[in-house]
Amino acid sequence: MKIIQAYRCEYCPRTRPYVTPRAIAAHESRCFHNPETHSCATCENLRHSHKPGARKGYVTDAWSCTADAPLAPLTTNCPAWKPQVSYEF
Ligand SMILES: [Zn+2]
Repeated sequence: MKIIQAYRCEYCPRTRPYVTPRAIAAHESRCFHNPETHSCATCENLRHSHKPGARKGYVTDAWSCTADAPLAPLTTNCPAWKPQVSYEF
């Protein structure tokens, strides 16, 4: 067994570790939880609510954008992005 050095994202510590500094830098540059990428995940315009689920009596997550920008949590560089004041994960 060998002990290795690895790196985790500063913004989403739940992700898997990366072995090289280059790999973690690449991840952080596009991480949806990095405020610098201006994604929905860190935007003040993102609202969370619930809607009826597929099964009766169950609810599921519903996300909306108060700026009416296309809601796309899996993208970056939204022109309507603004810093989320109470951002926590
Ligand atoms: Zn990350």
